[in-house]
Amino acid sequence: MSVEIPSEQWAQVLEKTGSNVIYKKIPVPKPGPDEVLINIKYSGVCHTDLHAVKGDWPLDTKIPLVGGHEGAGVVVARGELVHDVQIGDYAGIKWLNGSCMSCSFCRTSNEPLCPTPELSGYTVDGSFQQYAVAKAAHVARIPKECSLESIAPILCAGLTVYKGLKESGARPGEFVAIVGAGGGLGSMAIQYARAMGLHPIAIDGGAEKGDMCKQLGATTYVDFTTTKNLVADVKAATPEGYGPHAVLLLAVSERPFQQASEYVRPHGTIVCVGLPANAFLKASVFDTVTRMINIKGSYVGNRQDTAEAIEFFRRGLIKAPYKVVGLSKLQEVFDLMEEGKIAGRYVVDTSY
Ligand code: NAD
Ligand code: ZN
Ligand code: ZN
Repeated sequence: MSVEIPSEQWAQVLEKTGSNVIYKKIPVPKPGPDEVLINIKYSGVCHTDLHAVKGDWPLDTKIPLVGGHEGAGVVVARGELVHDVQIGDYAGIKWLNGSCMSCSFCRTSNEPLCPTPELSGYTVDGSFQQYAVAKAAHVARIPKECSLESIAPILCAGLTVYKGLKESGARPGEFVAIVGAGGGLGSMAIQYARAMGLHPIAIDGGAEKGDMCKQLGATTYVDFTTTKNLVADVKAATPEGYGPHAVLLLAVSERPFQQASEYVRPHGTIVCVGLPANAFLKASVFDTVTRMINIKGSYVGNRQDTAEAIEFFRRGLIKAPYKVVGLSKLQEVFDLMEEGKIAGRYVVDTSY
């Protein structure tokens, strides 16, 4: 089967770190021998894309850059070494666009830790364009019965929070605090936590996000902008008041990273996922020791985590809210995100 592929396409391009993205026509890339070319239909907009635009992290992006790493679409071409992905298959561009597959991390399925990764929408062009390439080994396999529009946010947000919840070690029946629960990762985390038999306590700001968190299944909503004592409120939301067994830190500010050790249950686990600029962790050594607190990081997920996260979605267990706008409106989405005004996720449609 062969598909007609244009030589030019629409894309959102960052030409200078810290400036607005520009909607313009650029050439359609060609896949290398071990790569596929995906006609991206929809792409989620992750806060990581905004960090990339702003140059928030101690790692440079390529410039000019096409951002985006939640791209869902249809395979339209493949290199001569690719056999297990067919033209016409649904596939997804994830944050990890490629890795060496031969280092000791890749060999032990810790490919996000590969020292020479290719990162979609950061070190290589991503999914804010109509046609994007990725290593065939790494593209997400999307079942044909899934809607490309609603599965897009699973490819980073869903995968990342699913992995973070697994890393927390929390078991069915236990409580998990989700910090930043009203955002893109947070709304997914509430749904995955529920599907995994956990009781999610949502923490974020404002009534709109509170209503959404409760609708998604949070047992309690703590509004960090109005609460008089956040630590007391989170503890009070757990049986016996000992605090949640796990904390998933998804917020884009440093303060909650300093606070989590004050309310996590003794022997509980704090999982850092959000990546606020120039942020540091701080916890009392006395509390960490005498309450036996675990503090760790979690970074996207491997290919098997991806397949599992997609399977939860395929079974209808994950229905997090999203709004669709044209790819041409990406800058407006970034502006809303900067102001913290997005409840759930935005997905861009690459056709307009
Ligand atoms: P988002 O903007 O959609 O959501 C962030 C939420 O945090 C917002 O709802 C905001 O109101 C809330 N928030 C801000 N300050 C808070 C506070 N003090 N207490 C509670 N909530 C607070 O962003 P997103 O797309 O969900 O991404 C979240 C973070 O996760 C980003 O830093 C992103 O780069 C990072 N991320 C990490 C990984 C990983 O693998 N570790 C993967 C994807 C994204
Ligand atoms: Zn992301
Ligand atoms: Zn490697």
